[in-house]
Amino acid sequence: NEQIVLANRPEGLPTHENFTYETIDTKPPQKGEVVVKSLYISVDPYMRGRMSDQKSYVEPFQLNDVISGGVVGEVIESQDNDFEVGDKVFGMLGWRRFNVVPSSQVRKIDGKQAPLSAYLSVLGLTGLTAYFGLLDIGQPKEGETVVVSGAAGAVGMVVGQIAKIKGAHVVGIAGSDEKVRYLVEELGFDAAINYKMVEDVQEALAGLCPNGVDVYFDNVGGEISDAVLNLLNSFARVPLCGAISSYNRTDADLGPRVQTKLLKARAGIQAFIVGDYAERFSEGAKDLAKWLSEGKLKNEETIIEGFENIPEAFFGLFQGENLGKQLVKVAEP
Ligand code: NDP
Repeated sequence: NEQIVLANRPEGLPTHENFTYETIDTKPPQKGEVVVKSLYISVDPYMRGRMSDQKSYVEPFQLNDVISGGVVGEVIESQDNDFEVGDKVFGMLGWRRFNVVPSSQVRKIDGKQAPLSAYLSVLGLTGLTAYFGLLDIGQPKEGETVVVSGAAGAVGMVVGQIAKIKGAHVVGIAGSDEKVRYLVEELGFDAAINYKMVEDVQEALAGLCPNGVDVYFDNVGGEISDAVLNLLNSFARVPLCGAISSYNRTDADLGPRVQTKLLKARAGIQAFIVGDYAERFSEGAKDLAKWLSEGKLKNEETIIEGFENIPEAFFGLFQGENLGKQLVKVAEP
């Protein structure tokens, strides 16, 4: 068996130096345990936070300990009557080829309902993040304008599509012309901008949001968000989902003060963590699966092959190399 551990804590952008590959023995499963062969491993921006030694909503990864996150796998040995060899499962598991875990740590998924990888993307945590952040906090009404940053990523692409389903005018912000084209032509966004190419994000958005911004779903923070906050309408809602532009910063992330701006708009910024909605996951998953099967919601994934490429896939998130959800395919079922 093989695993990837955190060798030391990144300063700034993570690099290969921060990770070590180890060969380990795998113990036979005890009663109540299953052996899960990893098929797809998820890499996610929040993992960067866990690589730092700072207090947050999840514990930091320990040095020399295996990195963990969302994994879709196949049960290859079972000491639990509820699980059979061949069952496909999702769990928060280690960056290992094989994980031996109590069966309570995994849940069965249905490969007939959707491709297995979808349980790490549109039907998984990123899809649910979009669903609850947008609908519970953003509450877009028909005809309102929704702006989403990180729009061509795993969360953002679902946010924009759900906003369209709800009848909103949807404008995306993403980091390449190809992504902009994809959002408008394939996903039905009303418009999108490439923040790396426009001279002034606020001005470009103002032209695309003639009625102002009612919901800003914030995935990136920093200057992009400063620009959008200037366009908020009265009683606008801002689900604060992430701030990827600051995750690798080593200096203070200073920006203009926003209190007056928010006061004038009487706008609300509400940060949230998808885990806050754990008790309602099945409700969200049901709607997402329905929209997916009806063709109202499209899924997109960028899949890199090979266990050894997990760190590379993770680094790519900070360079915008992914369209949709970034995954690593580790093995065939
Ligand atoms: P994505 O699939 O969106 O991947 C990250 C994307 O961020 C990249 O593709 C890149 O796209 C963009 N990006 C990278 N660096 C920058 C930068 N400096 N400025 C602007 N954009 C940048 O990841 P996810 O969809 O998984 O996550 C999106 C956000 O949501 C993250 O901030 C993440 O931490 C957060 N999140 C929060 C959750 C919660 O529970 N609150 C749960 C899941 C995610 P581009 O080419 O457009 O630059």
